[in-house]
Amino acid sequence: MAAHAGHLTGPRLLLRQIRSIMARPGSAQERLDQLVDRIAANMVADVCSIYLRRDSGQMELWATHGLSGDAVHVTRLEANEGLIGEIARTTKPLYLSEAHKHPKFSYHPETGEKPFHAFLGVPILHGGRLLGVLVVQNRMPRIYSEEETEALQNVAMVLAGIVSAGDLFDAQELHTVALRPMREEQGHGKVIAEGLTYGTAVIHEPQVARASLIAEDPEAEEKRLEKAILEMRQAIDTFFQGKGHLLGGPSRDVIEAYRMFAHDQAWVERLYAAAASGLSAEAAVERVRGEHRARLQNARDPYMRERLHDLEDLANRLLRHLGAIDAPADLPARAVLVARDIGPAELLEFDRKKLKGLILENGSPTSHAAIVARALRLPVVGQIKGAMDRINPGDTLLVDAETGTVDIRPAPENINSFEQRLGVRHQRRAVFARQRDVPARTLDGQNIDLFMNAGLQVDLPRLDETGAQGIGLFRTEFQFMLSDHLPRLDAQIALYSSVLEAAKGRPVVFRTLDLGGDKVLPYVAHEREGNPALGWRAMRMALDRPSLLRFQLRALIAAANGRPLNVMFPLITTVAEFRSGRDLLDKEVERARRFGRAVPETINLGSMVETPAIVWQLDELLAEAGFVSVGANDLLQYFFAADRDNDRVSERYDMLNAGALRMLRHIAKTCAKAERPASVCGEIAGHALEAATLIALGFTQLSVPPAAVGPVKRMILTLPAQKLGTALARWIDQGAPDIRRKVAAFAKTHAIRV
Ligand code: PEP
Ligand code: MG
Repeated sequence: MAAHAGHLTGPRLLLRQIRSIMARPGSAQERLDQLVDRIAANMVADVCSIYLRRDSGQMELWATHGLSGDAVHVTRLEANEGLIGEIARTTKPLYLSEAHKHPKFSYHPETGEKPFHAFLGVPILHGGRLLGVLVVQNRMPRIYSEEETEALQNVAMVLAGIVSAGDLFDAQELHTVALRPMREEQGHGKVIAEGLTYGTAVIHEPQVARASLIAEDPEAEEKRLEKAILEMRQAIDTFFQGKGHLLGGPSRDVIEAYRMFAHDQAWVERLYAAAASGLSAEAAVERVRGEHRARLQNARDPYMRERLHDLEDLANRLLRHLGAIDAPADLPARAVLVARDIGPAELLEFDRKKLKGLILENGSPTSHAAIVARALRLPVVGQIKGAMDRINPGDTLLVDAETGTVDIRPAPENINSFEQRLGVRHQRRAVFARQRDVPARTLDGQNIDLFMNAGLQVDLPRLDETGAQGIGLFRTEFQFMLSDHLPRLDAQIALYSSVLEAAKGRPVVFRTLDLGGDKVLPYVAHEREGNPALGWRAMRMALDRPSLLRFQLRALIAAANGRPLNVMFPLITTVAEFRSGRDLLDKEVERARRFGRAVPETINLGSMVETPAIVWQLDELLAEAGFVSVGANDLLQYFFAADRDNDRVSERYDMLNAGALRMLRHIAKTCAKAERPASVCGEIAGHALEAATLIALGFTQLSVPPAAVGPVKRMILTLPAQKLGTALARWIDQGAPDIRRKVAAFAKTHAIRV
């Protein structure tokens, strides 16, 4: 080895030496002992120690050079104890010139640690999962250079690969290190796509082959990395070539933003630094990605998370260019995928017959994967803390995406009761299927138009399956959010045409792009806004950048191809905004005429009612709009001043409250007086009790998620609408504080199926 390594120095030499130690025969303990000796010698440290995390969460001293040998396997630090605990908590390197002065310093006499001053510790992370901590210490105060910190992180990464592979330990030892949790446990998160499912855990994590962690020839690795980065950038550039002119004004932003991600100097520099320190190109990408992930877990700012998500995505692309990522693995017959976050396209790559559910460590209901999952009817629970850490491949998982609970390695009795719940659900589905062609008419003969919400191609078969009367809200932005580039005009036309084909004459209401807020496009540069829900979104964006909206309207007109067209604008706040949107539509119709193209037989242009401001200008709006649809998700968020995506407040206020109901009643009455149709398309319309209340208020059109069509229709068939309406009016006028309880009690006494 010495002959090969003769020209190497410092960190690179160390990586070489480590690999050769790992290749030697001997017990795991012997190898770790040699490892700490080698690291200490290379870094001229008095102490080098490896702490590994046990099942209990304690950090156990597993090997040391410099501390007392008696402390090995004896010293165990509690999860948050000491400097080791601090590194475990932050998953960041920690350097101190006077370790014992740090408030977190904890002294264990058996280690003989007291006289040491300088301290450098780094987390041993595997795919963002903490396996342990690697530490060097010196008796004298000293400075560890950036290069040394870097080197220690590389060593920790190599160590992580080896530790997580498990072959470092014999069977007995393996059970004591927290690599594979064994106990039954429960995770609590947030429902992202409703449903119940169970299956075998498959961990979704693009892995880099272990053999290639250390560079044989670091210069060659740097070259490989350089080539891959170049290829990736070229692929991105080629993608946009010739497409910019189609998009008008925003195209420049689009291309620039995308290129900016791929050219991000800080990212690229981190990659080169990692490769220069002796890692293979793949391992360098993986290491930088690992750092991002560790930060991602702590980032609270959604913009930051989005940004880091983009960088993670680029890391995947880069690994593909390096040939390091394979196609998704074959799934077991009933698979539940466990991922940190997953891209929508990736999700679609899995075998739909085998994939039964999804668990995400992050993930929000508005994430792209969530949107796709809902469309695929894949139950998803998100925000399960430490899911990747707590779930092993092959574990049985019960996914309750009704309450947001995941049973990990459940006991047999839990599996039984879960199966019973699944059985009940199946029976309910059969009832809904029988109701499919029954008109949605209340017990007292009021006809309700029951539409469904949609946004993707995969939603379309649900129209026939559910018996919905049409699509009351087609969220056109989904196509834009799922694509990694701005959809071209022909792609938009193709989607809208296929929607109209699938509808077979049933009405479809296309809502124009509702972007901004939390719906950010990775390929469009956006400015950070302090308050995105109140910011530059939806119509505000569309009217400031009219070319995007004009292209969309052009696509809708082309797709209609002479058939009737229903369009509505999102987040209208003033009547003037509606008019400006209508002017753009008029221009596009005129343009189609000028080019001799078919124009829609009729155009019905409506507005969403999503801001309290427009609620109080309804008369004026209705003089111009053909219909309105109440976007109750946004309307209630603005009414209660409670962010719909903030768990702390999103469910704090009940819509079954006299104030909110008075507002909704005002909308229903004003529209009835103006003889303009008014529907409700926010999530509440899909909840049976709330839907009953909306009908009692006077709404006769609801547009609900496909899965809610059955339950809402079942409710409608048993609803004495007028009777509830009379009671409700009284409660609202009295300002009753417990309207939900009253409506629920009414439903019970009148046997309404809510
Ligand atoms: C709403 O706000 O209620 C709505 C239907 O629009 P979105 O959920 O897409 O914002
Ligand atoms: Mg909305």
